[in-house]
Amino acid sequence: MKQICVIGVGYVGLVTAACFADLGNRVVALDVDEQRVANLKKGTMPIYEPGLEELVKRNTKSGRLSFTTSYAEALKGVEFAFIAVGTPSGVDGNADLQYVDAAARSIAKNMTAPLIIINKSTVPIGTGDWVADIVKSAQPKPINFAVVSCPEFLREGSAITDFMNPHRNVIGSLDRDAADKVAQLHLPLRAPIVITDLRTAEMIKYASNAFLATKISFINELADLCELVGADVKEVAAGMGYDARIGRHFLDAGLGWGGSCFPKDVEALAYMAKEKGLNPRILNDVMDINYDRRKAVVRHLEQLLNGSLKGKTIGLLGLAFKPNTDDMRDAPSIDISNSLIAIGAKVRGYDPVARHTAAPLMPKVEIFDDVYKMAKDCDALVVVTEWNEFKQLDLEKLKGLLNCPVVYDGRNIYDPASMKEMGFTYRAIGRGLNGK
Ligand code: NAD
Repeated sequence: MKQICVIGVGYVGLVTAACFADLGNRVVALDVDEQRVANLKKGTMPIYEPGLEELVKRNTKSGRLSFTTSYAEALKGVEFAFIAVGTPSGVDGNADLQYVDAAARSIAKNMTAPLIIINKSTVPIGTGDWVADIVKSAQPKPINFAVVSCPEFLREGSAITDFMNPHRNVIGSLDRDAADKVAQLHLPLRAPIVITDLRTAEMIKYASNAFLATKISFINELADLCELVGADVKEVAAGMGYDARIGRHFLDAGLGWGGSCFPKDVEALAYMAKEKGLNPRILNDVMDINYDRRKAVVRHLEQLLNGSLKGKTIGLLGLAFKPNTDDMRDAPSIDISNSLIAIGAKVRGYDPVARHTAAPLMPKVEIFDDVYKMAKDCDALVVVTEWNEFKQLDLEKLKGLLNCPVVYDGRNIYDPASMKEMGFTYRAIGRGLNGK
C-alpha cells in the first residue's frame, strides 16, 4: 500500500484517485474547488463517467479514498503527488499553465518530507523542468523531491476501463530511482511500461493525441471524396482497418473531434513547433479539416431542405462532445447550433446526460429531456453525438413527429438504404451513392 495524493479532481484526477485507491493504495484527493470537494464528501460526483460513482463510494467507504481542500493535509505522509489540474488553451493556442504553476507552488509550500511529484496533466515539452524550478524556488526550506512525467491516455466515457487496462504507461524522469518507484505503482496494471526522460514522455502524450486526431481528419477528408466518387467511407474504413499496420480505431468519418483534449493538444503542439521556427503543416491541416466538418452542416442542411434555414426548426441529437460523457468542452454541437442560430434557424437539442452542462453554453437552444418531444414539428434532425440510445430509436414514430422527414446523420449511425426505404430524406457522411 502506497500513500498518494492527487491534485485536481476533474475527469483525470478523480478517476486516477479512485483507481489507485481501488488498487489498494491510500489516496487523498485534493481540489481548490470547495463545492466540488464538499459534494464528493457527500458522494455527489462532479462529472458523469460510467462506473465512477460506485468506485468512488466503495473506496471512500473502505477508508482508502478521501477528499480535502487542504494541501497540508493532502501531503501529510505521502510519497507520491500527482498533478492532474487542467491545462486549457491559452490565448495563442499554447497551453495555459497557470493551474500547474499554482499546484507546484502549493506543493512546495506544504511538503514536509521528500516527495515524488508526478505530472499527469498534459503539459508542453519542458514543463517538468519548469515545475522543478518552481518547487525549488518556492520551498521555504530545501526538501528533496523529483519530478516525473506520467501522462494520462484515458478516454472520457470509458475512463475507468482505460485507466485499469492501459495500452502502456509512460514514465519520464531524469531521476531513475523516482521513475522506478512510479513504475512500481503501475505494476498491478500489467501493461508495458515505457521509461524515458521527462521531455520525451511529455512529447509522447502530444504525439499520440495528434496522431489520433490526424487519423480522424484523414478519414474525413477521404469521406468527401467518397461522396463524389460513389464509395462508402464506412466500408473503406473497415477494409483498411483489418490491416494491422493501420488499425480500425479512429477511422470513423463524421462531424469530427472535439472535447477537452484533441483540440487544445493539437493546437498546443502546433504552437510549440511554430515557436521553434517550424511550419507544422500536417497539424494545421488536421485542425482545418476538423473544423470544416462543423461549418459544412449548414450547407448540407440547406441542400436537404431545398433552401434557406431561416425560421426552420432543427433538432440536434446529442450535445456532449462524445457519447458517455457530459463534457461539453469544444463540443461540435456548440459551433453547429451557433451557425444555425446566426442564419435564423431555431435550434433544439437533446442529450441523455449533458443537458445540464450544455444549457449554460447554449442559452438560445431549447433543450429537451425527451427525444421524441424534441423531434415534434422539427424540420430536420442532425445526429451530432453517437449515443447508443439513438441507434435504436423508433424511427417510424420519429418520422411521424417531424415536419419534414429529414435526417442529417453526422455520425453515420443509420443504414442509408433502410432510411430511404422508410421515406426519410437522409444524408450521411462519405457514404457515396447510398448515403446522399
Ligand atoms: P478538469 O478541468 O476536469 O479538472 C481539473 C481540476 O483541477 C478541477 O477540478 C479544478 O478545480 C482543479 N484545480 C485547478 N487548479 C487547482 C490547484 N491549484 N490545486 C488543486 N486543484 C486545482 O480537467 P481534466 O479533464 O481532468 O484534465 C486534467 C489534465 O489531464 C489536463 O492536462 C488534460 O489535458 C489531461 N487529460 C485529460 C483527459 C480527459 O479525457 N479529460 C485525458 C487525458 C489527459
